[in-house]
Amino acid sequence: KRAAALAASSGPGLTSDGHHVPLLANIGGVQDAEEAGPQDLEGVGLFRTEFVFLSATTAPTLEEQTDIYTKVFAPFEGRRVVVRTLDAGADKPLAFADLGEEENPALGRRGLRLSQALPELLDTQLKALAAAAEATGADARVMAPMVSTAEEAEWFAGHVRAAGLKKAGVMIEVPAAALRSEHVLADVDFASIGTNDLAQYTMATDRMAGELSDLLDPWQPAVIDVVAAACKGGAVHDTPVGVCGESAGDPLLALVLVGLGVASLSMAPSKVPAVRLALSLHSVDQCKELAAIARSARSAEDAHTAVRAAANPAL
Ligand code: PEP
Ligand code: MG
Repeated sequence: KRAAALAASSGPGLTSDGHHVPLLANIGGVQDAEEAGPQDLEGVGLFRTEFVFLSATTAPTLEEQTDIYTKVFAPFEGRRVVVRTLDAGADKPLAFADLGEEENPALGRRGLRLSQALPELLDTQLKALAAAAEATGADARVMAPMVSTAEEAEWFAGHVRAAGLKKAGVMIEVPAAALRSEHVLADVDFASIGTNDLAQYTMATDRMAGELSDLLDPWQPAVIDVVAAACKGGAVHDTPVGVCGESAGDPLLALVLVGLGVASLSMAPSKVPAVRLALSLHSVDQCKELAAIARSARSAEDAHTAVRAAANPAL
């Protein structure tokens, strides 16, 4: 029965009472875009641009980048494509953006911090993105990874707008940005929570360390509390706060996220039908109830078990 319901699921993400939660794809390059484009998706919620350049030894030129971004945007004409500027450093080093050895790369100059050290690299990327958006008619929106402070968000938004791009956003994956989101989001148009890094930094647990995976369980109530804080700050300005980390693709956790006020969910395209089905079986009030249940739990396991018990049994 569930298989039949899944197969029948189509169209935009809607709760049972008609609240729209766009369901978007996480992609890492041209091939992913070409595969995701024809699928029943509302666009792209995370294009990890650093993936395109992992093996490049020299910085890609404006022309090379414009060509790649045009190919990525083309299948999404008229739909949104949220692009993340280079998230280099830590687990994703780029040879052409290497500032030297660091003792703790995950806590070092990665993401936006690296863009601030190499601003021409950022500006070239933004120019290429603006040209590709113009050429394809995709609704391109650009966000920065690893933003920690309001000053960083303001700095980034200034560069995005100077390049002629209309929508600037930030990723919230550092607890400081979540806790201060009212201030961090004051100068941007949208935010997207990266639950992978947010869990890593909230739980002080290396996301690459398999033996510590219990601490990195996305159901950790502390991580859910930090997500709630991020949403609360977004609500002050009516700034949409989405999620593009792995949590968004878990149907039960997606309900909790919507209950916390998350505005859109971005995930591996294969996960969209199950999340769409879960949404269709619950109202916003039911999602809020599930979020309250998760937040009152004492452990990740208790949160998961209690939400599963309270959700629609058809899931
Ligand atoms: C995240 O941190 O949750 C995220 C979406 O980005 P990445 O996994 O690429 O760090
Ligand atoms: Mg991240």
